[in-house]
Order: sequence, then C-alpha cells, then structure tokens
Amino acid sequence: SKWVYRFGGGEAEGRAADVERLGGKGANLAEMASLGLPVPPGLTIVADACVFYFNNNRTIPDDLKTQVLEGITVIEGQTGRVFGGKAKPLLLSVRSGARASMPGMMDTVLNLGLNDETVQALGHDAGDARFAWDSYRRFIQMYADVVMGLDHEIFEEILEDEKARLGHDYDTDLSAVEWQHIVSLYKRMIEDELDTSFPQDPHVQLWGAIRAVFSSWMNPRAVTYRMLHRIPEEWGTAVNVQTMVFGNLGSSSATGVAFTRNPSTGERELYGEFLVNAQGEDVVAGIRTPQSITEEGRIASGSEKPSMEKLMPEAFAEFRAICDRLEIHYRDMQDLEFTIERGKLWMLQTRSGKRTTRAAMKIAVDMVEEGVITEEEAVCRIEPPSLDQLLHPTIDPRVERHVVGSGLPASPGAATGEIVFTAEEAVEAEHEGRKVILVRIETSPEDIHGMHAAEGILTTRGGMTSHAAVVARGMGIPCVVGAGSMRVDMRNELLIGGGGVTLKRGDTVTIDGSSGQVLKGAVPMIQPALSGDFGKLMAWADKTRRMTVRTNADTPQDARAARSFGAEGIGLCRTEHMFFEGDRIHVMREMILAEDEKGRRAALGKLLPMQRSDFIELFSIMHGLPVTIRLLDPPLHEFLPKTEAEIAEVAKAMAMPPAFLARRIDAIHEFNPMLGHRGCRLAISYPEIAEMQARAIFEAAVEAGKLTGEPVELEIMVPLVSLRKELDYVKGVIDRVAEDVAKETGVPIAYLAGTMIELPRAAIRAHVIAETAEFFSFGTNDLTQTTFGMSRDDAAAFIPTYQRKGIIEHDPFISLDFDGVGELIQMAAERGRRTRNDLKLGICGEHGGDPASIRFCENADLDYVSCSPFRVPIARLAAAQAAI
Ligand code: ADP
Ligand code: MG
Ligand code: MG
Repeated sequence: SKWVYRFGGGEAEGRAADVERLGGKGANLAEMASLGLPVPPGLTIVADACVFYFNNNRTIPDDLKTQVLEGITVIEGQTGRVFGGKAKPLLLSVRSGARASMPGMMDTVLNLGLNDETVQALGHDAGDARFAWDSYRRFIQMYADVVMGLDHEIFEEILEDEKARLGHDYDTDLSAVEWQHIVSLYKRMIEDELDTSFPQDPHVQLWGAIRAVFSSWMNPRAVTYRMLHRIPEEWGTAVNVQTMVFGNLGSSSATGVAFTRNPSTGERELYGEFLVNAQGEDVVAGIRTPQSITEEGRIASGSEKPSMEKLMPEAFAEFRAICDRLEIHYRDMQDLEFTIERGKLWMLQTRSGKRTTRAAMKIAVDMVEEGVITEEEAVCRIEPPSLDQLLHPTIDPRVERHVVGSGLPASPGAATGEIVFTAEEAVEAEHEGRKVILVRIETSPEDIHGMHAAEGILTTRGGMTSHAAVVARGMGIPCVVGAGSMRVDMRNELLIGGGGVTLKRGDTVTIDGSSGQVLKGAVPMIQPALSGDFGKLMAWADKTRRMTVRTNADTPQDARAARSFGAEGIGLCRTEHMFFEGDRIHVMREMILAEDEKGRRAALGKLLPMQRSDFIELFSIMHGLPVTIRLLDPPLHEFLPKTEAEIAEVAKAMAMPPAFLARRIDAIHEFNPMLGHRGCRLAISYPEIAEMQARAIFEAAVEAGKLTGEPVELEIMVPLVSLRKELDYVKGVIDRVAEDVAKETGVPIAYLAGTMIELPRAAIRAHVIAETAEFFSFGTNDLTQTTFGMSRDDAAAFIPTYQRKGIIEHDPFISLDFDGVGELIQMAAERGRRTRNDLKLGICGEHGGDPASIRFCENADLDYVSCSPFRVPIARLAAAQAAI
C-alpha cells in the first residue's frame, strides 16, 4: 500500500483535502507546496501507518521503510544534499500531525541526521561552525527527550551552569568551541543516565524518531487532550519528515509564528512574533522575548526591538503576500509557522487559526463584506455555545487575578458583589441597591428569589447539573459550583478559600462563571456588545432558520431579557415560580394547607389579583407574540413551610394550632413527589386552582389587549398528562372560565389549549391526546427522567461514572438522547399530526438551548424551540445552522 506522500519543489502528491490520510499539517504542507509556495521538501507518512504500528505490536511495515528511503532519495535530489553525507549533509525534521489540530501535544525532533562527522560537514558547508554545534546540541537534547526519554531539564541545567561559568547571558553569546564542549557534556550525561551512547547512525536516528512520534499519539498529554476534544483514538497521527531550514544561521536568519488576523480582536492585521538567530522551540520556550513581526505591532506593544518588517523587509514583503494568498485560498484566518534562513523565507505550517468568539464574529462578518465567504458560511463559522462569552460581562484579560478558589464553570460571565450566605439577605440587598454574590453549600428551590436577586452564585458542592447550575444558566446569572477547595462556615458567616484566605460576609468577591475561578475583590470587566458584528451575524442567522425561537420565562425580567436577545415568544411560563415571590408564599401555604374547598377558595381569592397583575405585565411585554402559560405543576409539598418558625408563622396566619398544622403537612408528604401528586393531577383533585389560574390568565389577556392594542397569542398548557381524559377534564375547566370571562368583559378570547408531552404514555398515545390538544410542547426534562427512569436531581451521582466508563457518551439531561427520548418525540410528533395536521409542536426542556438537540428538532420538523433567555441567541444560531 501507499504509505508515503511526497511534497516540495512546487508540487505534491497530496492535497489539503487529504487530512484524514495526511493529518492537518501534512495536508496543508502538500497544499502549500502545490501552490508553489516555498516549502522545504519532505514526505508525509500516512496516519494509517500509526494505526498499523499500534495494531501490530509496534512494528513498522517493510514497505513503509522502503518508501521512506525512496522518498529521502528524492529529497536528496531536490536539495543537492545527502542524508548522513560527509560533505553536504541533509538534515531532517520529524514532526507529528494528526487529523485534528492538537497543538503542542505530540513530539517533534529537529536537526536529525547530525553526528560527530556530519556536524563538521554542516559547519564547513555553512561556513559557520558555531551554528553547526548549536544545531547539534539542540538535536541531542530533543532526541534524548523525545526518543530516549531523558528529561530535557537536565540538559538545560548543564547549559545554564556552563553559561554561568563562562559569563554569558544569552545562548547566542556562546562560541563554536563552547557549544562543542556542551555537546560533549550532553553526550556524557546520556551515557551516565542511560548506559548507552547517543546514536551516531542517521538511519537509526530516523527510525527512532518516527517510532517516537507514533508513540507520542498515546502519551498521557495527547490522550487527555483527545478525551477533552472528543478526538477518536483510532485516527492515529501522520508523521512529516522534512528538510531542515535554519533560523539559527546568524543574524539574517529567524523563526516565527503569525496569524493573518488578530486572534483576540479579529482585526484585519497581520499579527505575529519572531526571533532572530533561533529555531522553532525558542519562540515558545520563552527564553528570549520574541519581537513583533509588523511595525504596527511593535509600536502597539511599546517594544524597542525592531520588527521583521524593518529588519528583513524583503522576506517580510514575501511573507505578507503569502499570508494574503493563503487566507484567500483557505477562505479563513490562518495560523502560520515560518523560518527565514539567511534572508530566504520558508513556510513550515498553515492551519485555520484558533480565535476568541469576539474575533470569530468579526472575522466572519468582515469576510462576508470582503466577498470571501457567503452569509450562510459566516453563520456556520461560529460555534453557537461560544456566544455565551459575548452575552455576559467578562473579566478583562489584561488584569492580574487574585484567585482564592475554583470550581466548575456552571454559568458563564463574571460577577462582582458582596458575599451573602442566605437568599433573604440577597433579596434585602437588592432592595437596598447593593450587589451581592450568593454563597451557599448548595441551593434548593427555596433559594430562587435570592438567586434572582444576586449578581452571581457560588456553591461549594454540586456538579454542572446541580440545582444552582441549572437555575443560574436559566436566569443567565454567572455561577460557579462545586468549589470543593473552598469551605462555607455558615455559623461564623465565613467563606474559607485555598491558601488560608478567609472572607467574611460583606467582603467583595468576583466569580468567573466561564473559568470557574473565585477571585478576591472587584476586577475590571468588559461589557457585552450585542450590536455591530453580532447583530449582523444574527440577522443572517434569522434569515436562514425555519424554526422559531421562544424563551422559557417566568418573570417580566426574564421576558424583557429574552426579547432583547431576540425571543419570538414564550414557550414556557412556569406559573409556580410566581408563588415564591415575596409574601405570596404565605398565601400559597394557606391555600395548600386549607382543610377544605372553602378554605382553598378563600386563599385562591387572594392569589388571583397577584397572578393577574403578573400576567398583565408579562403579556404587555410580549404583546403580539405567542405566550404559553403552564398551569401549576410541582407537587404541593415544595411550597410547604419547613422550619418550626415557618410552621408557627403559617399557623398564626391561619389561626390554627401548630400541632394541627404539622399533621396536615404530614398528610401531604409524598414518598416520591416527582411521580406523585403534581401536574394535571393537582388540577383534577383541586379544580379551583386551575380555575383561578385560568381566570387570572384570561382577565389579564383582556386587560393587556386593551393596554397594548395588540392581543397576545395565548396558549394554555396542561402539564404531566398521560391520559386524554385528564386533558379533557382540565380543558373543560379552562373553557368554562374562558366563556365566563368573555361574558363578563364582553371581549371574545382566543386561545389554544394544549399539553406537555413529558411522559412516555403521552408520547405513545399522542394521536388520541391530539384529539383534544391543540398543541404539544415536549417537556424533555421530565420526558428524559421518565423514559430513563432516572431522577434528574440524583443523576449527578452516577452520570459522570457512566461517561467515564463509556456507557453513555453525554449527559442525556443536557443533550437529547436521540435513540430513546428522541424516538419518542418523533413518534409523538407523527402520531399527533396524523390526528391534527396543524398541531403546533415545540420543545421547552433544557434541551431547547442545546445545539445538537436543536438540530434534532429541525429534523423532527418541530415548529419552535424554547430555551432560557440567555440561550436565545445560541438557539437562533443553532437553528440556522441546522437548517443549512
Ligand atoms: P507543533 O505541532 O507542536 O507546532 P511542529 O511540527 O510544527 O510542532 O514543529 C514545531 C516547530 O519546529 C515549528 O514551528 C518550526 O519552528 C520547527 N520546525 C519544524 N519543522 C522544521 C523544519 N523543517 N525546518 C526548521 N524548523 C522546523
Ligand atoms: Mg507547528
Ligand atoms: Mg415537567
């Protein structure tokens, strides 16, 4: 089989499209060579050879050996040099290059082919002995590290000792003789450490390096990187064997890296760094400070050291022209590596450059305006989740961070405030106009109002799907969870951080929900910008998508935020959240704990105006757009008083002995409330609750219609239905109230009544349920929970283990389980539409903001997705990409 692809001399056997075979680096070297760019000739060993190597007990196939040697003969012809030759020795670099870019994860060996004889020849040929010995010591150090497994630091120690002894500050100060001496020290060190001498045969060196690069595919760094970036192990890495060019050949030589545009701002300006008289690794190693490539960059950085533009104007001009050409050719911003050998420019690498979201946005928009890419391509260039970075304030990257602890980055953005330890304090502070960070061991539904009031949330326990994390993401509030290195001392109101830093209540902290860091004090921030490039790109996305994007909003605050992010309606308004606000919880408790219908109606009478005014505000904000209101869903016990003090307070308000009340609370207790007396079951047991809610909704609709002159598109949603008759019963209540309100107000009321599909039985019986339901909204949180029989609140205990052991790939509560839950959705959608072909279909679980799940919804032909306000832009973009 063909194991080897050659490149160089204006042609190449491979192309950019051959990444699977040649790896990113090899494919792009081939592409550059075939474009006629100055690329040192070389060859690429295909990634399959690496796969073969591992599958066959680390052996190298014979025909691979032959093909490499043939390739080297061709390179010798092209360069007029001989590998291992005693006159004009050919030196090689051996470089890894996988299909996906894994920067710095695997190994490279430079200057291969040097030994005690060729080093003399190299020096003679270049007329520079210092350069030859410098190259040789570099080679020994790299080879010993990569191939022989000796830590490079022991060589650096030798070098530092020698520099100190000789009184030199810089490597460039050393003479040929001094380098030669260091080489002998290096070789002796290898003999002492490994009981073997440094290999002198270039062919032994070559195969040693090729094996080492193959093996580096399995080094721990690479394995971890692959896991984090979901790169399959089966790919293997290609190996590039390439003629060396020398940036360390005196003051007219240099090496550097560059981006064709600024990778942090996206500005259209060449951006890069270089070092004179150096080889590649020096730029990264940070031994010397690199210089700016352009004059502009030099001035901006305030550096005295001359730019490449000034120092090597011809090479610079050629380089700039190549940058422009490559950008147009690849139609994307490029990240380049180059070397200049005695004034002659050589290209060593090009690839699409990594960039910040801000830069990605600017580059995509600029490239459309420059006519390089289409609007649809621009839309596809942005990773939807990365938009998160733009929607929240972020910590100014230029400032120093005083980190006192860290946890999981649960909800992006940064926030600063005083430390408070209870939800009540947070609410109080909000009233007084103070900004706070709510610090808890973990949060629970009772903390919701405090979470709303806080600028940010920090917990010391819990994972990415803990209550705090899910709620904070929903609210768009920065949040760090599971900061295990920190401890909350509730009694003394202290937050104790790593390194013994103790913070008191009222002290200022900053949390960075994008990195998980907790910082002491206030830190300068960068504010989000939703106009400009962001606005343009989102407008293109909106033009492209088919599905509408709604939001899950419970409060006017949510609704306003969501509209500003471009939400086209509310897909889920959870009415129960309204009952936690302020004093309402007391009235709610009275209602729940009432002995009979009469008592309940009395309490409901007090709740009605509160709920109505909420809806008037919500409808006014959302006028003209659809709003789906869900009737009360959670089990009643969530509202019950818990502490003795709370029970006493409620007892007093209800003129009831506390002991009596405690018995009522016991009676309401459920063993498994999530599968208990909740959803439509409540409305069937206590129809007066549904009646009150329906009345509040309709009266508010009439009122808001008058205020805004534009009616809301009203949708009333019944939760947790599994039987058609459940829906029939509750819809009966709703319809009756609608008629009453219409009669009382003289205003006709239009609305749809529908249901959530969140139980497997409902999905299976969708064709029957659709006889009554006018819309379905897939409640994928509960549907996932009930399909798997896996409690969302408890799943954090085993999901990570499942992922680690490869039993599931991703958390089904975050990204939809296509095979199981997805199949139910598809089935319900089909069956429902068979009964009612204009059945409106949407999704309102956490998944409504997850790009992979959104793609699924597009394919399942849903009408809309609904997600938390801060995910609306992400959903708009993901829906557009799904439609392309
Ligand atoms: P990485 O994937 O970590 O960037 P590379 O294979 O690109 O590793 O090699 C790192 C550096 O080594 C390059 O940026 C370049 O400076 C240097 N290098 C690689 N090949 C050559 C070569 N043929 N001639 C001179 N320098 C080279
Ligand atoms: Mg590189
Ligand atoms: Mg539900």
